[in-house]
Amino acid sequence: MQEQALKLEGSRASIAVIRIDSPPVNSLGHATRTALAESIQAAHAAKEVDAIVLIGAGKLFSAGADIREFDRPEVWKSPDLSELIALIERGPKPVVAAIHGMAMGGGLELALGCHARVAAHNALLALPEVKLGLLPGAGGTQRLPRLAGLTRALDMIVSGEPQTAAELQGTPLLDQVIEHEDVLLPAAVALAEQMGEHGERPMASARTVTAENADLQLAAAREQVARRTPREPAKRRCIDAVEASLLLPFEAALERELAYFHELSASSESRALRHLFFAERTAASISDIPKDTPVRPIHSAAVVGAGTMGAGIAQCLLDAGIPVKLLEASRAALDRGVATITRQYQRARDKGRIDDARMAARLKLLTPVLDYAALGDVDIVIEAVFEQFDVKSKVFQALDAVMKPGAILATNTSMLDINRLAATTGRTGDVIGTHFFSPAHVMRLLEVVRGEQTRADVLVTVMRLAKKLGKTAVVARVCDGFIGNRMIEQYLRQAGFLLEEGATPSQVDRAVEQFGLAMGPFRMSDMAGNDIGYDIRKRRSRETPSLFYSRIPDLLVETLDRKGQKVGRGWYDYQEGSYQAIPSAEVDDMIVQFREAHNLLARQISDEEIVKRLVYALVNEGYRILDDGTAQRASDIDVAYATGYGFPDTRGGPMFYADEVGLDKVLADMAVFARNPQADPAFWVPAAGLLARAEAQR
Ligand code: NAD
Repeated sequence: MQEQALKLEGSRASIAVIRIDSPPVNSLGHATRTALAESIQAAHAAKEVDAIVLIGAGKLFSAGADIREFDRPEVWKSPDLSELIALIERGPKPVVAAIHGMAMGGGLELALGCHARVAAHNALLALPEVKLGLLPGAGGTQRLPRLAGLTRALDMIVSGEPQTAAELQGTPLLDQVIEHEDVLLPAAVALAEQMGEHGERPMASARTVTAENADLQLAAAREQVARRTPREPAKRRCIDAVEASLLLPFEAALERELAYFHELSASSESRALRHLFFAERTAASISDIPKDTPVRPIHSAAVVGAGTMGAGIAQCLLDAGIPVKLLEASRAALDRGVATITRQYQRARDKGRIDDARMAARLKLLTPVLDYAALGDVDIVIEAVFEQFDVKSKVFQALDAVMKPGAILATNTSMLDINRLAATTGRTGDVIGTHFFSPAHVMRLLEVVRGEQTRADVLVTVMRLAKKLGKTAVVARVCDGFIGNRMIEQYLRQAGFLLEEGATPSQVDRAVEQFGLAMGPFRMSDMAGNDIGYDIRKRRSRETPSLFYSRIPDLLVETLDRKGQKVGRGWYDYQEGSYQAIPSAEVDDMIVQFREAHNLLARQISDEEIVKRLVYALVNEGYRILDDGTAQRASDIDVAYATGYGFPDTRGGPMFYADEVGLDKVLADMAVFARNPQADPAFWVPAAGLLARAEAQR
């Protein structure tokens, strides 16, 4: 924390400038809070200082609390954030916050405790605690409504989304918004000087909240939260806390806010969200590769195959400003691919997400080509042609022949053996899997699949590229289905068994959707195409004849020709142009007939059993994946499921969820499922890692 006394020319006032200086994001951990409190006390005590300016060192004001402290006593160690803020607000000298870059969470709460705020127009202000299942616990829910009004405060606190200073201009929240960051400090000093001269120390806590139709606004916010995010108690509490700013004296409302904060930080939802927050950051690190591994430059890329995935992948690269050559087998397919990309951009423009200039700039980076020779100069090629080994290996050989030395050859295969594919080239070390999810330009998850020969720098380069593309990358090793699809296969097998035993597709879907999954297994299969799952099962049965599947999903395709949404009929019926799943009597009849033909007894299956069987199927396979090293760590599996498979964030991913339930309980339930006379007992044999961790938990 630097402190310096500034004297402006022609001025008698003397201003202490205090910098929040804890790189990289000026988080407010205990050491920083202590240093700030000491600097402020020193400035209060110094006779020559009339007023104080608080500013962030480096690129921002402050990103807020050090969330690593959340589960440790340090977070409440004196001076805690509320004490620091009280020291400023109640102190004898005016303090002006000078905000650039961002003031988030505790950083913004700190600024709200100052007597005035000056911000660069593009600075981002947010109270994002709700995204971790919490609420601002250092007065944010009380001071923001007083400074920004009820409507804005509700919106910012309940959504957690940032607003720019320019958007907040005109409210008492910001005394001044400046165009250029380089005049931020002088502007803040000038204001502090003025305030020092007049002894002004306006306190947010002394204001009253301005609100029109407060009751209506609160009711509308509650209704929206109940409808859209019923499983997020933090959002409800955010509204309760903001309401307290209208109903209670400031100090009492602060106590209420703090009580809610403690309640939420102990909630399973917040624990899950905090787990995922750290898990996402941890996923980027690769345990066995040195941190200083060099990264290869990626200035240009190519995508081969411009179908569903190729077009989406090309768009991701274009969005990141990387020039892309798009190669197809025929002119017609190439034109289709370019048209898909153009259409996607037009849609984004029509929705106001990008403007014409940006759309044109991105499309300008796209070069459609038909000849492999054109790919000789690119730094990486991502292949997204048909999922057939022979087709892919021919493409790989053609690429290998033209690509420059050191260029990376990536495949978007869903299941094929990347080691075998790599072996068809003369550059096995440069081959890697990049498994995007559909739609590729929207879905956050990217599985980065390292082959046996993949070089460390290739892996690191692709992880870096993933970040540039805005993806959350998780490293997997080569196996059938990698992490996500290998687990989903067990989940889908179990869903098939549930039908045999008496459940209907809509009951199964409803049960897991109520648990919080974005989509149940049957709606998901209809979306992906039931014929695709059919082909996978046929192949798996050939390769592993001991693997037992229900025949019901096969009959859906073989006898009823219900391929899914794309043909308007799958597990459900679909009306033209609608994704609404309508339960089908034809499917229900087929299932009943199947049970009769095979002497299967139908029973009432509870929603609780459905959820447990499907989720524990994921968990057990997740542990197998850890046992054989396909995933680096359990938290990577959680990240994959939360970002790519619609597993609810507030449950933290399947592995975290199983821990929360308690692995002993999970194992006991699995043993019950294995004793079910209609079950495949092999299914429920616990993975070695699951047994070991349960033992450790004991
Ligand atoms: P798609 O059928 O939509 O597109 C494949 C494209 O490849 C077609 O446009 C085709 O003309 C082109 N192509 C075929 N052979 C070619 C060749 N020799 N040279 C150049 N182009 C050629 O398929 P898709 O759904 O985009 O899948 C592509 C790959 O992505 C597959 O490996 C698939 O397993 C994988 N994948 C698909 C999804 C998904 O949800 N669709 C998700 C993840 C991964």
